[in-house]
Amino acid sequence: MTEELFRDDATLLECSATVLAVDEAGVVLDRTVFYPLGGGQAGDTGTLSSAAGAVLAIADTRKHPHRPGDINHVPAAGSDLAAFTPGTRVSARIDAARREAHRRFHTGTHLLCALVPHPVDGCSITAGYARLDFHMNEALDKAALNAGLARLVAEAHAVRHRWISEAELDANPQLVRSMSVQPPRGLGRIRVLEIEGVDLQPCGGTHVANTAEIGAVLVTKIEKKSAMTRRVVLGFAESPPT
Ligand SMILES: [Zn+2]
Repeated sequence: MTEELFRDDATLLECSATVLAVDEAGVVLDRTVFYPLGGGQAGDTGTLSSAAGAVLAIADTRKHPHRPGDINHVPAAGSDLAAFTPGTRVSARIDAARREAHRRFHTGTHLLCALVPHPVDGCSITAGYARLDFHMNEALDKAALNAGLARLVAEAHAVRHRWISEAELDANPQLVRSMSVQPPRGLGRIRVLEIEGVDLQPCGGTHVANTAEIGAVLVTKIEKKSAMTRRVVLGFAESPPT
């Protein structure tokens, strides 16, 4: 079981940890700051460094395919894992710029959810862009969405997470905006992300602490993916997605 430090503090870039297991697929630690691919958000990248000076580049992070609760740090292709045997103490450090992009885009997608009152049936958050698929057939106005995003960023709403019981979620099914992803059950509690006065929904992702930190995020594209799907793509104004 990997302790998920990123759930309570998305600003943590580094932690000490102990290797629990290792194989060709990756390294499992007892605790980590690395977010594993999930809820549409890409996994973190970074490094694991041993006290003896060995450095392992981590190219991706995934939930372990066979061991529930374990997080797999996926090494870059061709890495030498010899120095990272179980019991090894390591320093785990994520790529800070990538995490910052994920935090800004992820909170930005929640603002879009507040601006577009339709269910979400797909989501992808990367360091270069974010996209959200809405289940709807009405047209969307790019200029209106950008004005709405700019307003919600400028209004500087506080962003915070809290944990609710599964019973509380069952009593408020309208909280779930996503058609494709249901919040994880069986742990007794569900993490919800609140943008004060704007949006509240189950989410395990990493977010900024205030909408002002999202900065200059723009709708770069709106696509009609199918009769009932409108895809909205977000990019950073300072570096448009390629
Ligand atoms: Zn989310």
